[in-house]
Amino acid sequence: MSSGRIDRVLRSTGFRLTAWYVAVFAASFALTAGVLAWFMSHAVSATAQTLVDARLAEYRTEYESRGISGLASAVALHTKAGDRDAVALTDGSRTLYRSSDDVPVPNLARARIAVTTIASDLELRLEHGNDDERALLERLRTATLVALGTALCLGVIGGALLTRRALRPVRRLTTVAEGILRSESFDARVPTRGAGDELDELATQFNRVLARNEALVKGMRESLDNVAHDLRTPLTRLRGGAELALKVPEDREKLVEALADCVDESDRVLAMLHTLMDISAAETGAMRLDRARVELDVLAREVVELYELVAEERGVRLVSSLEPIAVQGDAARLRQLLANLVDNGVKYTRPGGLVEVRSRREGDRALLQVRDTGLGIDPKEQLRIFDRLYRGDRSRSEAGLGLGLSFVSAIARAHGGTVSVTSAPGEGSTFSVLLPLGE
Ligand code: ADP
Repeated sequence: MSSGRIDRVLRSTGFRLTAWYVAVFAASFALTAGVLAWFMSHAVSATAQTLVDARLAEYRTEYESRGISGLASAVALHTKAGDRDAVALTDGSRTLYRSSDDVPVPNLARARIAVTTIASDLELRLEHGNDDERALLERLRTATLVALGTALCLGVIGGALLTRRALRPVRRLTTVAEGILRSESFDARVPTRGAGDELDELATQFNRVLARNEALVKGMRESLDNVAHDLRTPLTRLRGGAELALKVPEDREKLVEALADCVDESDRVLAMLHTLMDISAAETGAMRLDRARVELDVLAREVVELYELVAEERGVRLVSSLEPIAVQGDAARLRQLLANLVDNGVKYTRPGGLVEVRSRREGDRALLQVRDTGLGIDPKEQLRIFDRLYRGDRSRSEAGLGLGLSFVSAIARAHGGTVSVTSAPGEGSTFSVLLPLGE
């Protein structure tokens, strides 16, 4: 494996999770096994010492009742039975009895020793070979080490499997993201397991981001098409006019007429580009506001007057119900806001319908409302109409870039206000803008 690959594996979440799992598992197992082994060896030692003390008591009784010969025959009896007892009776300077030499005197380190004093000047000493105890402790230690090794192996395998399983949804997420980057297909989604856990939540949120991006990219493509389409007409007319004028350079009247047409068409193109730049500025929060006291009812009346002719041409009745109310804001921007809402109201209302503009105080805020009896908006679409570049399915037949409402929303937000909609398909819509009062 190359060093780069090893480095990647070592830094991977999977490796680190497994390492942590194994470390915690091994530490807790080692602690438990250690404590258990300590208790058991302690118990074995205590039992062995009790046995040696009892054996010494037996030898003492034999000596006291039957003297040295009784002691010797008792030792011989146990030696015959396979025990390795070395017994010595001393009176301080002399050894009165020492068990037979063919009994190997156990190495002190391997023997358990017990000593007792008889009649104040005799000392009876027993060194008992503790092979059984040692073997038992040895087996205990081996069993503990084997169990620890097995637990470590199981920990590594179990930890790796668990981590692999736990990170599977994350890997799926990565695969989908890679797929999107490779193919630029924004309709891919990560499957959720329905477990309702954090990883499912992550996949759900990731899918929401994907859906949002997909809508945004789709909207941008459509908008680019629209912009290109909308720019082509005035630019073609501009070119046609200039070409025509060039054919008759001697006719001054025609030249002036063509130039005036060119100026008109250029103005249209410039207005469109300005709108796009305004939206962009509003979206990035760079919109500058020239704040002053704005009488919303006066401003609304102007907008209604401006749209009266358009509404009349479309056979839509445009009315207003305006109570005096003022805010601190940018009059030009607020006019654009209201004009967009009225424009939509007139645009999406069939002949014979009604559009009403209202203004009034609503608690500590000023309310601007545009109600229409038009097409209405599907509840599913209501969540998205304020998105930049979003156009409703049923509005394609009407001219527009899908930027009007996102511009309205950006202007309202720049003023510290909000915009909302209530609508029922086939019955009409009401757009409400709430702005902080500026008295
Ligand atoms: P545009 O009008 O250029 O499509 P907007 O941002 O102004 O873009 O509006 C977004 C969408 O919201 C429209 O495409 C339309 O589907 C819907 N909409 C806006 N206003 C109304 C309204 N008054 N009645 C019905 N639908 C509306």
